[in-house]
Amino acid sequence: MNKFSWYEAKSVEDALEQVNSTVSEQLYESGKEAAIFKSGGIDVFDWIKEGLLKPQKIINIRNIPGLDKISYDRKEGLSIGANVTLAEIASNEEIKINYPALHQAVIHAATPQLRNMSTLGGNIAQRNRCWYFRSADHECFRKGGDRCFARHSDHGQNENHAIIDNGSCVSIHASSIATALMAFKASVVIVNSDGKKKKVLMDDFFVSAGEDISMETILQSKELITDIVLPPFSKNTKSAYLKHVARESYDWSLGDVAVVMEVSGNTCKSASIVLGAAAPVPYRSLQAEEAMEKKDINQQNALAAAEAAMSIARPLSKNGYKVPLFVSIIKQAILEIT
Ligand SMILES: Cc1cc2nc3c(=O)[nH]c(=O)nc-3n(C[C@H](O)[C@H](O)[C@H](O)COP(=O)(O)OP(=O)(O)OC[C@H]3O[C@@H](n4cnc5c(N)ncnc54)[C@H](O)[C@@H]3O)c2cc1C
Repeated sequence: MNKFSWYEAKSVEDALEQVNSTVSEQLYESGKEAAIFKSGGIDVFDWIKEGLLKPQKIINIRNIPGLDKISYDRKEGLSIGANVTLAEIASNEEIKINYPALHQAVIHAATPQLRNMSTLGGNIAQRNRCWYFRSADHECFRKGGDRCFARHSDHGQNENHAIIDNGSCVSIHASSIATALMAFKASVVIVNSDGKKKKVLMDDFFVSAGEDISMETILQSKELITDIVLPPFSKNTKSAYLKHVARESYDWSLGDVAVVMEVSGNTCKSASIVLGAAAPVPYRSLQAEEAMEKKDINQQNALAAAEAAMSIARPLSKNGYKVPLFVSIIKQAILEIT
């Protein structure tokens, strides 16, 4: 582990000023010095321990006052500060009642101990969990190398990898909570070092590998997430979330889905359906959404929507099982909306 200095940020402005004044090169590029924000620190310290990240300075944003609040406004919706922990979201009764898919996604993420440490900002900004990407011995496309080790049909360990949009990179995004946030059409509030604020839809926050293989989100090193905002709920908005894992106790997602629907009785007026662990970023299934629009919520229509979602799947050598898995959980999640 390299030596680094530690800075306790007192405010958002203070944190941004610090990162601005540090010679900062692109994050996660091995050998380069950088300043990095640390919130819960779970992902940041993994990278440092593995020697993949060698920061000159760690800026601890975990104790910045004001970033740890959950508030609700009838017009603006639900605002969750970037430093709110997953445990705090899990125990929030309003979220449990009004945004059940988010509640379900959070309680099925990681372990109770990890949820006590993990912050929502850190969760959506964490890097993917492809074992080759996280190994200092493998220079894959994402790290500027000349190949994708996971894709190899014989040696590639691609059981957990992407079945959709798996061109240059076949990793899957690590945040299963982002699946639910995107289904709710949440936005991310980002401040840059000039003090400028922008509010970006989750759909535009993530960057597909085809767009820019070095990035997974639009977040730049001199930008800080302050809040994640979900639209106001209405009594006709229903939601469900399902995650499939290999181990019952806790595990990373093999496939997860969030469904948010505007309903009229048993009819779907409009649907927002997002898949996790299917593609390098959380994936909005326009096929499933269109298949459900203005349809009754029943077995036949739910199955048709799930099959439509999987019509574009292109599994790798060892993850063909994900196609029937997704058909099953998408169908089940749609049927839970009643
Ligand atoms: C064994 C294990 C199982 C897990 N299972 C799941 C799971 O099932 N589902 C799931 O969704 N997650 C899971 N996680 C992820 C975990 O819950 C954390 O959310 C995640 O590791 C990072 O959160 P953190 O707050 O520690 O972020 P940190 O490690 O502090 O930061 C992560 C990244 O985000 C950046 N960052 C943090 N906060 C901000 C901010 N406000 N603005 C800008 N950049 C910021 C940091 O610079 C860093 O690049 C798991 C983790 C482990 C170790």
